Amino acid sequence: MSDHNQLKITNMEYDKDRPKVENPLKIMDVTLRDGHQSLFATRGRTEDMIPVAEMMDEVGFWAIETWGGATFDTMHRFLNEDPWERIRTLKRYIKKTPFSMLLRAQNLVGYRNYADDLARAFVERAAANGMDIFRTFDALNDYRNFETVVPVIKETGTHFQGCICYTITQPRLGGEVYNIDYYVNKAKDLENMGADSICIKDMAGLIAPYDAYAIIKAIKDSVKPPVHLHSHFTSGLAPMTHLKAVEAGVDIIDTCMSPYAYRTSHPAVEPLVMALLGTNRDTGFDIKILAEINTVFEKEIMPKYKHLLNDTKLSITDINVLLHQTPGGMLSNLVNQLREMDALDKLDAVFEELPKVRKDLGQIPLVTPTSQIVGIQTVNNVLFDDENERYKMITSQVKDLCYGLYGKTAVPIDPEVQKKALKGYDRGEEPITCRPAEVLEPELEKAQEEIKGLAADIDDEILYAIYPVTGKKFLKWKYGKEEPPEEVKAKSLETALAKLELVNLAKAGKVVPKSEIEKIPEKSANVRAFNVFVDGECYEVGVDEIGGSPIISYSMPVPGQAPAPAAAQVATPAPATESKPAAPTAAAPKAVEKAPAAAEGTPVTAPMPGMIVSYDKNVGDTVNEGDCVVVLEAMKMENNIPAPVSGTIKALNFSSGDSVEKDAVMCVIG
Ligand code: MN
Repeated sequence: MSDHNQLKITNMEYDKDRPKVENPLKIMDVTLRDGHQSLFATRGRTEDMIPVAEMMDEVGFWAIETWGGATFDTMHRFLNEDPWERIRTLKRYIKKTPFSMLLRAQNLVGYRNYADDLARAFVERAAANGMDIFRTFDALNDYRNFETVVPVIKETGTHFQGCICYTITQPRLGGEVYNIDYYVNKAKDLENMGADSICIKDMAGLIAPYDAYAIIKAIKDSVKPPVHLHSHFTSGLAPMTHLKAVEAGVDIIDTCMSPYAYRTSHPAVEPLVMALLGTNRDTGFDIKILAEINTVFEKEIMPKYKHLLNDTKLSITDINVLLHQTPGGMLSNLVNQLREMDALDKLDAVFEELPKVRKDLGQIPLVTPTSQIVGIQTVNNVLFDDENERYKMITSQVKDLCYGLYGKTAVPIDPEVQKKALKGYDRGEEPITCRPAEVLEPELEKAQEEIKGLAADIDDEILYAIYPVTGKKFLKWKYGKEEPPEEVKAKSLETALAKLELVNLAKAGKVVPKSEIEKIPEKSANVRAFNVFVDGECYEVGVDEIGGSPIISYSMPVPGQAPAPAAAQVATPAPATESKPAAPTAAAPKAVEKAPAAAEGTPVTAPMPGMIVSYDKNVGDTVNEGDCVVVLEAMKMENNIPAPVSGTIKALNFSSGDSVEKDAVMCVIG
């Protein structure tokens, strides 16, 4: 890159009078993980990281965060990318700067505690694939959940960064639970576990500048490992917090490159570099290299992601996070979930219920997976509870939490809620107090057995063990056993720019007929007409599936319900493989077979949009009222859907991995 060379010459002049300082502030860049996770739903593709990778390696970052739970999940689920491959690919371009990943301790990169054998294998493989720093956190700050992974991190010679999830129960630091002693004691625990560094993980952007100053100072006075601050911009506090953290002697701070900064993401690196220029904490970074990287992001990469940015508001700060302590990601999830269920008007009720649920469940920090656990339970309570009964629909994860399967909560769980959650719980009604993984059977070998013939190596097997449903689907795409759906395929810069151009024209009031932009495809003989109702208006639309005739694998006119073939199809955002004719999955034909159009009986409908995890019953099985018939995943939380009546299973209309809309008939009992 010739421009690059030219800039370097200028840089030498620019740097001429800038002394190297003794204790520069170290910076970890989180653009390639938390940055796109915060702003673009974790949809960043590896191919869009490569154009900046070598330049980013030149900046002098302490580390670059490249991996985490959401990346692992999203990559195989929505991007048809092998998450392991990302580490190996980026390593070929980023040779000097260490890689950091966010590890959910015993939750690994998933949403529950996994057995020790799987946890060990995961960390070993992550290190072998090129991970250098394991930023490890537990959603409950229960460090017994570190006991399995930390020795493996140490054995692999990588860096163990221990996190303290930052949370509060009042507007500022203090109170009975999360006060300064709490954080100092947690830091001491981490030092005793051998932490190479300690991170204050402020996932929601709640930490106020003077609180950060007090905590960091107290921790620095009490323990030896370097202190690292991770905070989000969301509320607007973070840039001020960063400066106070520097004054308190923080060693490392997380930032993003500007195009990925602010909003629910992180403060940008450039203003911090400029703010510290010439001081005793000068980062030493070359602002011009940073600017050059930003140009590549802006010109070559951002057009592909712009549409994912939630820019419905003018304001880039959101003080709701301070009022409700709802992390940004959690808030957008809640809003989406309510919208999909046609219940956006309940948002205020959700905000009101949320702190109550959090308190009932032991005043836990809100971070993956506890943010989802508390969030979805809150939505369930608001939608399904009535004046006679609270906690009418308790998710499996809340039951697990009440059992102790996530660890020890900061304060005890409300005994009434706990008792109700554990009634009939399959592991037992008496909660455990030991380290959670102690009650988990080894699970890797079983997974290996199940995925034999499809998985090619241990990395595939681990992917499947952590994500059995979507992992299996991904492996089928990976090995050509199934055609990946259109929506998981990468889009070119040209397509992205053409679309943006259309948006701009539309904004300018110039409506361009579709035929002028691209050729209108011809209608096939299979085009089907649908009535679409929008705000009381009715439109007829023709639907013609790209790549072949639509196969409606389940069409269920149910007595008393409007026949809605489209609604029974597929909900976003999960890939809709079940309607692809080209892929003879186990799903489609089986569903056809099992769902005779005229199956009569009582329908078991989806109370919310989600993905079918599994059916607990087969066609012909008898069920009693209240038995779980199907497990439905909504926003990563599993809900056991009970039989509304006793009878015999007449039809199971979907298969594991299928997405369903609200009110879809999942099963019929006759
Ligand atoms: Mn974060």
